[in-house]
Order: sequence, then structure tokens, then C-alpha cells
Amino acid sequence: MAYTYDDENIFAKILRGEIPNQTVLETDHSLAFRDIYPQAPTHVLVIPKGKYVCYDHFAQEATDAEILDYTRTIGEVCKMEGVADGGFRMIANAGEAGVQEVPHLHVHILAGRPLGRMLQ
Ligand code: C5P
Repeated sequence: MAYTYDDENIFAKILRGEIPNQTVLETDHSLAFRDIYPQAPTHVLVIPKGKYVCYDHFAQEATDAEILDYTRTIGEVCKMEGVADGGFRMIANAGEAGVQEVPHLHVHILAGRPLGRMLQ
């Protein structure tokens, strides 16, 4: 599948500094910031700075340095937010069926309340 990246998506604007965000952590290749409509006491989004639509796009086309940085940034955010203590959930929605609202890869990190059973 060919991925088409929309430069006008809201996270592209955040990365260009056109829209403010509440940054949790910024690295060479990644940015973590608080979701503006938090669904749990901790709700952080982690995005790569590269132009990747969804996780499979990233996993197929990102450089090793980007993949390492992104994975480590997610781990660092989990550590900073202390999510391992009570448990947490990571979600990366993709495409129409996955109800992905913003077409720039983002992993949601949710914690701080019981999150319920997701898969039935
Ligand atoms: O996975 P999905 O694409 O549906 O999630 C997009 C997320 O981006 C939502 O949780 C929404 O609250 C968040 N968002 C944000 N800042 C914006 C626009 C959307 O944190 N400016």
C-alpha cells in the first residue's frame, strides 16, 4: 500500500510550531505531548517527527535511528509518568476502521484509572 501524508494534518502543524502543545518530552526524532481531550488522568501522545501516517508506514519506511528513538521515547515517557505502577494502555489507531482522527502516527499512552477490557 502507498501511504500519502497530508502536510496540513494537526500534528504536522504542531511539529512546525504553528499550534501550541503541552510537551512532555522532545528528542531528535520524536515528540511526546499531552492529549487536549484526555481520556484518563495520564493521556500522552507520542509521535515521530518524520512524515508517517500510521504505525505500519513507520515500521516499513522509518530509519533504524527513528525507530530506536521513537521506541525509547515511549519507554522514557512511561517512566516519567510512572505508568507501570498501576498499569497502562498503549493504542495506535490506524485508518478508517481503526477510527484514526489525525493521519500522523501517534501512540496514545493512557493511565491513572481502570481502563476496562478492550477486546471482547
Ligand atoms: O487516534 P486518534 O487519531 O483518534 O486520536 C487523535 C487524538 O489527538 C485525540 O485523542 C485528540 O484528542 C488528540 N488531539 C490533540 N491535540 C489536537 C488535536 C487532537 O491532542 N490539537
